Amino acid sequence: MSKYVYFFGGGKAEGRADMKNLLGGKGANLAEMTNIGLPVPAGFTLTTEVCTYYYAHDRSYPPELKQQVNEALKKTEEVMGAKFGDPKNPLLVSCRSGARVSMPGMMDTVLNIGLNEATLRGLIEKTGNERFGWDSYRRFVQMYGDVVLGLKPQEKTEVDPFEKIMEELKHAKKVKLDTELTTDDLKELVKRFKKAAKERTGKDFPDDVHEQMWQAIGAVFGSWMNDRAVVYRRQYSFPHEWGTAANICSMVFGNMGDDCCTGVAFTRDPATGDRVFYGEYLINAQGEDVVAGIRTPKKIAELQKDMPPVYKQLDEVRNILEQHYRDVQDIEFTVQKGKLWMLQTRNGKRTGFAAVRFAVDMVHEGLITKEEALSASRIPPDDLNQLLQPIFDPEAKRKAVKEGKLLAKGINAGPGAATGRIKFHADDAEEWVHKHKGTPDGHVILVRRETSPEDIRGMQAADGILTAFGGASSHAALVSRQMGKVCIVGCGALNIDYTKGTVIVGEKVLKDGDWISIDGFTGDVIAGQVASKPSEVVQVLIDKTMKPEQSKVYQQFAVLMSWADSVRKLKVRTNADKPDQAAQAMAFGAEGIGLCRTEHMFFDHIKEMREMILAEKPEDRKRALAKLLPFQRQDFYGIFKAMKGHPVTIRTLDPPLHEFLPHEDEGQEEMAKEIGVSKQKIADRVKSLHEFNPMLGFRGCRLGIVYPEITEMQARAIFEAACDLAKEGSKVEPEVMIPLVGFLPELKAQAKLIHDTAQKVFAEKKIVIPYLVGTMIELPRAAVTADQIAQEAQFFSFGTNDLTQTTLGMSRDDYGSFIRVYLEKDVVPRDPFQSIDVDGVGGLMKLGVERGRATRPELKVGICGEHGGDPDTVKFCHKIGLSYVSCSPFRVPIARLAGAQAALGK
Ligand code: ADP
Ligand code: MG
Ligand code: MG
Repeated sequence: MSKYVYFFGGGKAEGRADMKNLLGGKGANLAEMTNIGLPVPAGFTLTTEVCTYYYAHDRSYPPELKQQVNEALKKTEEVMGAKFGDPKNPLLVSCRSGARVSMPGMMDTVLNIGLNEATLRGLIEKTGNERFGWDSYRRFVQMYGDVVLGLKPQEKTEVDPFEKIMEELKHAKKVKLDTELTTDDLKELVKRFKKAAKERTGKDFPDDVHEQMWQAIGAVFGSWMNDRAVVYRRQYSFPHEWGTAANICSMVFGNMGDDCCTGVAFTRDPATGDRVFYGEYLINAQGEDVVAGIRTPKKIAELQKDMPPVYKQLDEVRNILEQHYRDVQDIEFTVQKGKLWMLQTRNGKRTGFAAVRFAVDMVHEGLITKEEALSASRIPPDDLNQLLQPIFDPEAKRKAVKEGKLLAKGINAGPGAATGRIKFHADDAEEWVHKHKGTPDGHVILVRRETSPEDIRGMQAADGILTAFGGASSHAALVSRQMGKVCIVGCGALNIDYTKGTVIVGEKVLKDGDWISIDGFTGDVIAGQVASKPSEVVQVLIDKTMKPEQSKVYQQFAVLMSWADSVRKLKVRTNADKPDQAAQAMAFGAEGIGLCRTEHMFFDHIKEMREMILAEKPEDRKRALAKLLPFQRQDFYGIFKAMKGHPVTIRTLDPPLHEFLPHEDEGQEEMAKEIGVSKQKIADRVKSLHEFNPMLGFRGCRLGIVYPEITEMQARAIFEAACDLAKEGSKVEPEVMIPLVGFLPELKAQAKLIHDTAQKVFAEKKIVIPYLVGTMIELPRAAVTADQIAQEAQFFSFGTNDLTQTTLGMSRDDYGSFIRVYLEKDVVPRDPFQSIDVDGVGGLMKLGVERGRATRPELKVGICGEHGGDPDTVKFCHKIGLSYVSCSPFRVPIARLAGAQAALGK
């Protein structure tokens, strides 16, 4: 018989922390905390296998489940000394979701299950606290109504039906906080809630406690497939097959009076990484209140005054948990009449800043090893991005403040600087960004009273998130931190009116679409746009406007990078076309150039380039090319010099020639005047070069086959520059790369031209330098015939942009029209132009490496497409034995870390 239910309580649990796949993160950690002697209310976990069974069997349960639940419930009752459904001594429970990975607020939880008129009377008698009894009951009816009976807002401007009833009553009673409602008010609320539920469902609110529990379990399993949970999993590439566990946990009460509270905390600051106890609590409240941002909670430090012994004990727990889990923990607790109960622990979500700081500090504290510090679960490589993101230019900000544009200050929950247009609704934000993406207008700040899991898509689209309510552990803060979004919460001065589409601060009124700027480092909210400036890391490394010793963030970044480099096997190069880009990438740690495109250089000398294209006879073409030669030579010289002896891969001309010609009348006229030919001639040439599908047209090595003198000129420029520099005593290592090769003879012809030119230049310059001639593998035919191509190629570089286009038959200029639907329908797991399509394109890469090395075992193989900076792709490249990845300069640190994680197998 399968075991579907795991009990925890009374100091012993059947589960353990390493059983997350089966028990979910919450269940596994409740078990672990129980086992290490922390105070956890007893309960049990229904495994994720129940959930997968539930979906595989038309939403029904395994037959043996019921008995296992009854047995576990009985043990729970024994440990807690109360009985579920007993009118004299009732046990209440919560039913809580919990997947293997935390999905904050995405799924459902119901508290205070087991209440009806009879058990309520028992609860009140037992506690002698009528108000508490009714408060618990109204919470139960509200949550059950929401989660199980589905009483949720139907329209975006509609408020929650229960909130509405509550607001009406508060208004009538002239009170602000729910703690000010009297017992009679709460009774009235329950009545109205139940009425609303009956109106919506047509049924009486259930009194049977077992029905309540099983319905709640069903709702928790059901919430695994709700829209927001599905979206969330898609964003983080978690499979839908995992399923969630359901935890039944005895209730403890933070809402019994002023010697009770409920809170959430991080063992260190998850925004900055500071080693301070960081959290919040609410006196006389239940768990959800803190996270939902209904009342703005107190800072954890104040608990030291409010409840000194509890604070001391909690601080000890903080220590125990960090030592035990060896990572920063995100905890949930409740204090019932002065007694502390632990309700949850998990590894805390953190910003990129905090991730780096935690990792480096914990190594120095001796808590973890360097290898552990580098693991992807502690520092997802993409999060390093945050350390490279711009911050507000202090001058610009000071000026804005002086001009009176500072609106308010909130809690700085997600560091960074963001400027964007105000959007009040998540779907408006999403729609706006979708429409204006890539333009200066395509930036949005999502401004809300508070956020809820429904808003996740809009949060994803926005540059920053600003809320009026909630604290540093509110939904907005948590989710922003994970997404690496700039975020300010609890900005109480904001008066937001969703129906009017305005936010009012004092005298000032801002409307939907107005610009607003938020500083996630300080919590400052500023009207209008504020200019930003480079991050500290960039200031130290690139701009040199800061010294390393002035920036703590930089120092930690540098330490982490040095650890990464010490274990990394894969080399990291950069894609750079200009000396300044090359220098930037070197500062970020690039070990060479993996792709230097030469077309940009041609655009800088477009007149000569156009003469070359218009030339009818080879002599004319050569004459035009001769004019281009010195420019190219100079450019290459600059790049070689910036790279200080590191290898530089230069790709010969790749784009179709018509890209260099003007297509409009006006441009053609101007060009005609400039180079002294008739406009007709230009128009004719443009026409003759027109292609229906330029991506598959006259481009790549095809240009050099038809016009060998182009390749010759480029080779000459490369070798002359290299020889000049070598004569000055510098090391140079050019690698000439031929694009779009599909047939061995193509490569042979081009390679011969290059070798011949090299010999000529060496003779002229009386110096010989080492160099290689290789090819891009960016056509399926090249990958399949890699054994042949390697006869000539001295290296390979996967051009995964074209290889993806040609393998998938998807143009990257045209796939925008359907890719969103593909992603939503799970046709493809990720955007194949961002992260390598492992089975298809990746399969060809693997084949290319194997066949290439079968011919030439020492073959150097790299990747130079956009994918080279994607952490998952980097890991894949490591796995199939590539020599290096190449990516844009700002992705270099990310690739270095991903490369280290690949080497560590993490
Ligand atoms: P989530 O996964 O969204 O954090 P939880 O299952 O942790 O949801 O529940 C939300 C809140 O409800 C928690 O913050 C916790 O404080 C409170 N809660 C859950 N179960 C109990 C319980 N048995 N007793 C008291 N409070 C509880
Ligand atoms: Mg929780
Ligand atoms: Mg290409």
